[in-house]
Amino acid sequence: MIKTDILIIGAGPTGLFTVFEAGLLKLKCHLIDALPQPGGQCSELYPKKPIYDIPGFPEVLAGDLTKNLLEQGKQFKPGFTLGERADTIEKLDDGSFVVTTNKGTKHQAPIVAIAGGLGSFEPRKPLIDNIAHYEDKGVEYFIKDPEKYRGKKVVISGGGDSALDWSIFLADIAEEVTLVHRRNEFRGALDSVEKVKELKLLGKINLITPAEVTALHGNESLEALTIVQEGENILLEADHFIPLFGLSPKLGPIADWGLEIEKNAIKVDTLDYQTNIPGIFAIGDVNTYEGKLKLILCGFHEATLMCQSAYKIINPGKKYVLKYTTVSGINGFDGTRK
Ligand code: FAD
Repeated sequence: MIKTDILIIGAGPTGLFTVFEAGLLKLKCHLIDALPQPGGQCSELYPKKPIYDIPGFPEVLAGDLTKNLLEQGKQFKPGFTLGERADTIEKLDDGSFVVTTNKGTKHQAPIVAIAGGLGSFEPRKPLIDNIAHYEDKGVEYFIKDPEKYRGKKVVISGGGDSALDWSIFLADIAEEVTLVHRRNEFRGALDSVEKVKELKLLGKINLITPAEVTALHGNESLEALTIVQEGENILLEADHFIPLFGLSPKLGPIADWGLEIEKNAIKVDTLDYQTNIPGIFAIGDVNTYEGKLKLILCGFHEATLMCQSAYKIINPGKKYVLKYTTVSGINGFDGTRK
């Protein structure tokens, strides 16, 4: 049995920052994540994509933000159970919770912070008969390392920000980038749409709209695909086909924990992001309340307030006086000032 003060489900940016805020209050954390690495969406979906709205960082790559969050929390020595999904929760007579993973690992804590983001996320896949045959053999639903596409012929499909941003990014890396979208209009940022059109004029992006990829060809791996544009079949050589149709979010087993759920997210009290079950909090993308914004900085704020309530539950009657880290130091909080 792994025992801790705050058991965090989800090691995305929200879960990782919770470690730091809890550490300032001398509370220990342990994180469970279904993915084999920490970072949540930042490391799984867009590690090499820049983020522009983290306070104090005019630009930071999502992968670097993850590294920095891990570095910031390291001093408080969090524990990790990675590659395991939190499946069941049980409340013990002493008020603490036991969370068991799909691999049978048990964790006990008085406080559970669900920072599960979109849950176990699954990419939306296009309806192409033999697509499963080419998965990881030319068909990818996420771009983890753009270098993989250097000198390759890449076809991206989709009309949102990911499809636009990656087409722009890969235009300088791949031998050939083709962007296929079933409408002439894109859902993504206007800026990105303009940039794609500019790159099309420069011959750096082959833009095919309104059109759809309907068939994949190749023996062992992807070699070509068929695009249908206004009834015409276009056969195009391709090393990679990357459909970026978004994610279909699934809360997974957490949906059966007796929590109040609305639109696939956990309802919380905005006082401290506690759920309808006292002692269980939901922070970051996984929660919902009036005015909710699914942004990293909102997850950071929610984690901070949540930790204050967790402290009061764990230390009933004990007064906590907020001190700035500039005054009290950071490592001083757990007695290990370097
Ligand atoms: P997540 O990052 O989703 O992490 C949740 C983690 O919980 C996951 O690792 C998941 O595996 C794990 N998990 C879920 N259920 C379980 C379970 N039962 N057991 C174990 N583990 C579980 N936000 C910004 O603020 N600025 C941006 O510029 C920005 N750009 C984005 C670009 C893209 C392409 C995408 C997809 C998102 C972007 N976002 C951006 C949104 C941002 O990534 C999210 O708001 C943020 O990742 C939420 O963090 P989180 O920790 O709450 O959840």
